[in-house]
Amino acid sequence: MSGSFTQPLVYFFGQGRADGTAAMKDVLGGKGAGLAEMTTLGIPVPPGFTIATNVCHSYLESRQFSPRLRGQVEHHLQRVEAATGKQFGGAEHPLLVSVRSGAPVSMPGMMETILNLGLNDATVEGMAVQSENPSFAWDSYRRFVQMYSSVVFDLPKQLFEQRLEARKRDCGATRDIDLPVTVLQALVREFKDLVKQETGKPFPDDPLSQLWGAIAAVFQSWNTRRAIDYRKLHGVPDTMGTAVNVVAMVFGNLGEDSGTGVAFTRDPSTGESRLYGEYLLNAQGEDVVSGARTPEPIASLNERMPHAYQELERTARVLERHFRDVQDLEFTIERGRLYMLQVRRAQRTGPAAVRIACEMVDERLITKEEAVARIPPKDLDQLLHPTIDQASQLDLLAVGLPASPGAACGIVVFDADKAERLGRSGQPVILVRRETSPEDFHGMVVAKAVLTARGGMTSHAAVVARGMGKPCVVGAATIDVDEANQQFTADGRSVREGEWISLDGGTGRVFAGQARLIDPALGEHFKRLMGWADDVRQLRVRVNADTPADSHRGRDFGAEGIGLCRTEHMFFEGDRLVVMREMILAQDEAGRRRALEKLLPMQRGDFEAIFRAMEGFPVTIRLLDPPLHEFLPKEDSEIVTLAGHLERPVDEIRRAVLSLQEVNPMLGLRGCRLGIVHPEITQMQTRAIFEAACAIAARRGRVMPEIMIPLTASAVEFRKQALVVRRVAEDVFNERQITVPYLLGTMIELPRAALTADELALEAQFFSFGTNDLTQTTWGLSRDDAGRFLPQYLEQGVIPSDPFQELDIPGVGKLIQMACELGRKTRPDLKLGICGEHGGEPNAVAFCDRLGMNYVSCSPFRVPIARLAAAQATLAARGTMDRTKATV
Ligand code: ADP
Ligand code: MG
Ligand code: MG
Repeated sequence: MSGSFTQPLVYFFGQGRADGTAAMKDVLGGKGAGLAEMTTLGIPVPPGFTIATNVCHSYLESRQFSPRLRGQVEHHLQRVEAATGKQFGGAEHPLLVSVRSGAPVSMPGMMETILNLGLNDATVEGMAVQSENPSFAWDSYRRFVQMYSSVVFDLPKQLFEQRLEARKRDCGATRDIDLPVTVLQALVREFKDLVKQETGKPFPDDPLSQLWGAIAAVFQSWNTRRAIDYRKLHGVPDTMGTAVNVVAMVFGNLGEDSGTGVAFTRDPSTGESRLYGEYLLNAQGEDVVSGARTPEPIASLNERMPHAYQELERTARVLERHFRDVQDLEFTIERGRLYMLQVRRAQRTGPAAVRIACEMVDERLITKEEAVARIPPKDLDQLLHPTIDQASQLDLLAVGLPASPGAACGIVVFDADKAERLGRSGQPVILVRRETSPEDFHGMVVAKAVLTARGGMTSHAAVVARGMGKPCVVGAATIDVDEANQQFTADGRSVREGEWISLDGGTGRVFAGQARLIDPALGEHFKRLMGWADDVRQLRVRVNADTPADSHRGRDFGAEGIGLCRTEHMFFEGDRLVVMREMILAQDEAGRRRALEKLLPMQRGDFEAIFRAMEGFPVTIRLLDPPLHEFLPKEDSEIVTLAGHLERPVDEIRRAVLSLQEVNPMLGLRGCRLGIVHPEITQMQTRAIFEAACAIAARRGRVMPEIMIPLTASAVEFRKQALVVRRVAEDVFNERQITVPYLLGTMIELPRAALTADELALEAQFFSFGTNDLTQTTWGLSRDDAGRFLPQYLEQGVIPSDPFQELDIPGVGKLIQMACELGRKTRPDLKLGICGEHGGEPNAVAFCDRLGMNYVSCSPFRVPIARLAAAQATLAARGTMDRTKATV
């Protein structure tokens, strides 16, 4: 577009001024935006420039750099030279740079960084003279050739590692930096020869061609398998692209007065408000996170270099205040001077997120609404994580660093591919590695927990596990992992692949065997945050509970009633099953009634207990729903036993069982169809409900039953069942001389019910959307068979997500919306709710809020998630979501 303003391709930062800002994450990537913002804040950042994200795709398409880009890069390189007083490729004061990726969304460890770029046989001499430290210069050169070869030429890292380790062994050196200069020189030559041998081309000596090679490699890394996998998992669009940051090097490997590290402005694991992190002296970049050397906790830096430490603390405070959130920092100290190399919003565990949000409200850094808006509802899962029962008698295998809280048990697997296979087939696996790298990512995704022998609290394993909210123990140094032989040894015992272990990521303890896990206790911060959420939200939250125990748990988690009490589970217990079978297999109505008589007191007892547990709150009870043959024996031996119990011929029972089988039970004799064919079942269940309710009411208890007819497809079905229910209610109220107010409504779980909701609402006083069945019937897709092709559908992008996990808003949601509107047209005060697992899924909760539903109902552990999601839905509708979303 001629004449219009064209955006620059490259953005400079240095000497207190920057072309970009934190708000320009889309253009600069997170890293570039952070570097620009820190520079403007006057924080010491080495100068550099950022190549914009949109260059990524034009490069990937053409595999060429435009003259315009080349011009801008070279121009900004000159500015960096001017700012540092060094020359790129200069023999006396050589400027070295790092070349770093950085997408708008943080993709930790996904793309590689090249350090010390600009070194060659000439510039290394300049560095050696200028620093008066030849071993530093050659150590840097050695690192550069190694990194460049693996990132740009894609040569296996081990080729270089093996040679380096061999040299260290020869010299008796434990650290890279302890190698004599002559050995480092020999290594550089050896590495370069290796490159020539493997690629057929000499290692590039010209700094500018090094630079362009590195820039190209960063762009190409956007399309590596692990980058693509990561984006898929986190829903990051492929179109985004990465920026490239070219930053003047500062050196942490100049001696014992230099170092490098990572820090969090607060503890990302617990949320405690203190500088948290680790560092290594005389080290460069990835040394800290690679797990090769075990870093020191940040507190000890205060003793070694008090000045740099205090500067770091001060900078952390400035950045936290500025961005109004906890930050994750990367820094390097060069001869006692602190430089910041990265800032980004810190990943944190669920418990830390809650504590930090509360404390930031107390510090008046954020408002209560922001605290509520800021916590991803699913992160609450981690507060509800189990811990290991202290009473379980287990052998302690090892103690490592507590990298990510929560306890887990699983079978040991040493390889990510295998973990993925077993995990997908439903086995609980714990991935055990010496240390993890981004190649292990897919295995970590499916693992219940991760255990590593090496690495610190900021190692790859630790960062990734925390991001996923997965229990993780790292740096369990007494464990010897033998990946080749698929076993590890610890404390004199060996554990092979497939054996059970248990670990606690909150304490770092690892045990042999399968521990008993216990439910967590919810702390003060959690209660405060949930209180704020409750103040905001409009939607009520109920629990799906079939037992008094689940009812109590639901109430403890803040449920305001039961949205779905399934009655079928009650018939599976102990001797009830026999009576239930007697009822189902009865030869006539009289026989059925006799069995139902026996079931009545049992059901009444169940309902009384549940009403008591939920006293003062509504309880929605669904009448019998599943196909009857689900209650019948499958094995012939069981049939024989049953025949004995019922004192009937085995053959007869066998035939009866067979005759109840259906080709497609999901669409067969179930739901209200059962009650229409056998009204005596509905009568018994309703009687049990009202007798229980009257018993509570007689003791002046408050009871609010809501009776729900399942699988209704037509208003006639509903009317017929409603007649039965109302008649029984009248009978019981007359017998007991007491009346209990109740509601009578229906599940909406068939498309026909949604389409005729206006008719249904003539009689039904409430609708509860059964989204599991509604999803099955709308898609014409049985949940039990979906496994055969759903993975491919997801893989090929035919569907964006599993509709049984995430509510399909455009399809199933449209039916729900239609049913709400039609229903309320007939009956303006129609009560609307959703049950089924979607009731605890944040997107579905927001959707229900938009439709003006009265409540959502979900399993006990999801109740807090739904409360928070409901509050966020209200805030989003008011347009007062988190203001800090716009920052890095
Ligand atoms: P990642 O995205 O994996 O965090 P970075 O680009 O942040 O990769 O680089 C990793 C590490 O390399 C940094 O934490 C820092 O220690 C080091 N590093 C990067 N650029 C420089 C630089 N200009 N000077 C010194 N160290 C650097
Ligand atoms: Mg980094
Ligand atoms: Mg159903």
